[in-house]
Amino acid sequence: MRIDIISVLPELLDSFFTHSILKRAKEKNLLDIIVHPLRNWAVNEYGQVDDYQYGGGAGMVMMCEPLANAIESLQRERNYDEVIYMSPDGKLLNQPMSNALSLKENLLIISGHYKGIDERIREHFITMEISIGDYVLSGGELPAAVLSDAIGRLLPGVLNDETSALFDSFQDNLLAPPVYTRPADFRGWKVPEILLSGDPAKVAAWRYETALQKTAEKRPGLLND
Ligand code: SAH
Repeated sequence: MRIDIISVLPELLDSFFTHSILKRAKEKNLLDIIVHPLRNWAVNEYGQVDDYQYGGGAGMVMMCEPLANAIESLQRERNYDEVIYMSPDGKLLNQPMSNALSLKENLLIISGHYKGIDERIREHFITMEISIGDYVLSGGELPAAVLSDAIGRLLPGVLNDETSALFDSFQDNLLAPPVYTRPADFRGWKVPEILLSGDPAKVAAWRYETALQKTAEKRPGLLND
């Protein structure tokens, strides 16, 4: 899989992608993430990519021309399954969306800044708009990194234990069951007996039961989906 990201602050993303689990994904040739500085397509020698908004008001807007040129030049090289704009008014990112996107081959992600991008780019190029939550950040880099991580960790072979992502929260609309590690007794706080029983069927049943309980307590809405 390949993810291309267009950004005015590529440095912000570089450190994340070279230190996280996504680094391993790249080393194993499972996922390639390439960050493109939007300034490569700036409209002048000063590197301009934004301008004042029509109608007045504070805040700059990312211009059509650099974005259109950037998107089109990448599209000439390959077909993108989706051209995604990270935006607070987009569809809220969740596990089913991440699962679906992890099956794609090429994704192009546009990360905005300032007041956002010129609406005409959204109308003519963007196929999907994704928000990472009902709050406003100053740029789309963190959202693009969040989305790439959520997708990347699902690719078979990226996580050490291939099946482990399947047992994380939100798969099957359940929160994950509690987890414990050594020692079995810490200050008299004991690990549930069943986990020490060595009986995989009993452990699986306990995990399912506690996941169900936890979901009913913390996120009852998930059980109705
Ligand atoms: N004026 C816009 C916010 C712009 S924030 C509005 O009120 O809707 C600047 C950029 O940060 C956006 O273009 C977007 O790419 C990114 N961004 C901010 N919050 C985000 C969120 N919750 N989810 C996804 N992207 C977000």
